[in-house]
Amino acid sequence: MCFLLKESGQYDKEAVNPFGILDYLKLNYLTFNFDTVLPLEVKPEGSQPRALLSYSDRLVAVDDNLAPPRERFSTLHEIAHYVLPTHQHSMYLCDSQGMSHRTHLTFEKTANEFAADMLFKGGMFSIDVAAMGISVKTITTLAAKYQASFEATARRLAERSLRPVMLAVFKNTAGTRRINADTSPNWDVRYCIASPIFKSRFFTHVNGSAPSDIAAELTSSYRDIEESITRIIEIDTSAGQSQQFTGEFFYNQYNIFALLTPANS
Ligand SMILES: [Zn+2]
Repeated sequence: MCFLLKESGQYDKEAVNPFGILDYLKLNYLTFNFDTVLPLEVKPEGSQPRALLSYSDRLVAVDDNLAPPRERFSTLHEIAHYVLPTHQHSMYLCDSQGMSHRTHLTFEKTANEFAADMLFKGGMFSIDVAAMGISVKTITTLAAKYQASFEATARRLAERSLRPVMLAVFKNTAGTRRINADTSPNWDVRYCIASPIFKSRFFTHVNGSAPSDIAAELTSSYRDIEESITRIIEIDTSAGQSQQFTGEFFYNQYNIFALLTPANS
């Protein structure tokens, strides 16, 4: 991965430019509207194709409706299919599910990991995190630096940190049931990602909801994502004991996030 970034002149740049890698590999690039242009028979029902690689045409194509961070990631994902030696040298049509961090398809997972390694320049990202500390401020700063989405950057921070940290992502599960205006929104855990040391010391997952007063404060009026709320919270560990964690909660207008680190460490 580093070899490819160095050879294509991308390693010393702050943010990787996928076009530099496409050029180096002599791959053509095209964007078009995948919804209207792709024939229906290549789209399995319910799937939203976002990008494709045609090995024989040396062509990467990406849906032109994608926001820039997604377009960058999708392009790097197709480059990964092209360079990974174990991947078939044929045609890949990749959809949102395959490019999600929760995909179960091994070849998509491998391509996602390779793409993320390129996007965050391997170990460079971890060095930045170690220097800046674990906080929402670090996530926004590094998302801007690496030109990645906020959520992908938050996941990478938790996943690769050498310190014990867990990212918990909450979604509003009352969204469609709020005909009764007296019910309050409920922000339930959507997924969690923890650093290796956090998993081995504590747990791999938390269940439940974000504290309702914090959720209300974060979402009731517009506030900047960096205006987080920090609180000490108690969580039961698998050993049946409870442990105190520092939780930094913040909101990006879609999800509530929490960075959990052991208190007093
Ligand atoms: Zn793919």
